[in-house]
Amino acid sequence: MHKKLFIPGPVEVTQDVLYKMATPMIGHRSKEASDLQRRISDKMRKIFYTKEEILLSTTSGSGLMEGAVRTCTAKRAAIFSIGAFGKRWYEMAANNNVPADLFEVEWGKAVDLKEVDKVLKTGKYDVICMTHNETSTGVMNPVEEIAFIIKKYPEVVWCLDTVSSMGGTRIEVDKLGVDVCLTSSQKALALPPGMAVCSFSEKAIERAKKVKFRGYYLDLLSLYNYIQKKDYQYPSTPSLSHMFAMDYQLDKILKEGLENRYRRHKEMAEYVRGWAREYFELYADERYLSNTLTNIRNTRNINVANLNKELGKRGFQISNGYGKLKEKAFRIAHMAECTLDDVKELIYNINDILRL
Ligand SMILES: *Cc1c(COP(=O)(O)O)cnc(C)c1O
Repeated sequence: MHKKLFIPGPVEVTQDVLYKMATPMIGHRSKEASDLQRRISDKMRKIFYTKEEILLSTTSGSGLMEGAVRTCTAKRAAIFSIGAFGKRWYEMAANNNVPADLFEVEWGKAVDLKEVDKVLKTGKYDVICMTHNETSTGVMNPVEEIAFIIKKYPEVVWCLDTVSSMGGTRIEVDKLGVDVCLTSSQKALALPPGMAVCSFSEKAIERAKKVKFRGYYLDLLSLYNYIQKKDYQYPSTPSLSHMFAMDYQLDKILKEGLENRYRRHKEMAEYVRGWAREYFELYADERYLSNTLTNIRNTRNINVANLNKELGKRGFQISNGYGKLKEKAFRIAHMAECTLDDVKELIYNINDILRL
């Protein structure tokens, strides 16, 4: 039996979008391929609220994270981590020999604004990396407030991981001043895993030109240059199947309307939070709750693995706590094409299994 996924990626993909993955191939050096990538970029610009160039990458989101920190750091990167995915930025920098320092907070909290200011003020850093929506903790960072601080430091390139939030909540890239905003296909955009996408600002382009060793496959400047020189093509062979599906799914997203989409996500989030407050506790700081997933503290000491097994028999799947939070918390994702009725059906089944 297929289990309906309420995990923070991959998410349920609708049948019509899955069928688009089976579109017959075209040559990746054809005009059709250029048109396909250009259409995707134009639509992505609307979802990202940006006028900057859009880069595609045949990797999952981690590929563009690694590419971004390597491509944009000439001096030193400040990594502000609020959980497992934030820390990943630091591991990527370290493994690429990119100078970086890690600034962490206790899990469940958002980025410390005063610390951002204090760290950038030292003048040691020319890049700042962080997570928008930390999938391991269920915290959504207050990017408007963070933007206010980062704008004081015009030499700093801002790389923002919006893997689990872009398409599910409003992130106005240009207004915020994010230089590289990246996301993956398999989360709130409701596509199969395997493709990542980012915006790439003028400032980031100029910075990248000053970085000598940017790698090869994940060099963002190379992806950008190829778009310019070859009219929206990709340096190697992209996953055309994903691109067919993406082109189609982005039309569906824009047809729903971004406002409606954000509202739907908020409604689902509020429903799950309400339930979690009644029977358990929310893990994340109440001021910074994620709109795309809810991390629930296991205050009743239930067996989460067992709950998931029972849910599986009924055709549903949720997520255990991430890493060290296994059995101490559990996560319900409410993103992509998921509806409030889907969420209600899931919660009804959880209540029934747990006899709540
Ligand atoms: C899922 C996730 C990632 C990793 O993305 P992949 O597409 O699996 O590489 C990174 N950051 C966040 C916040 C995520 O939720």
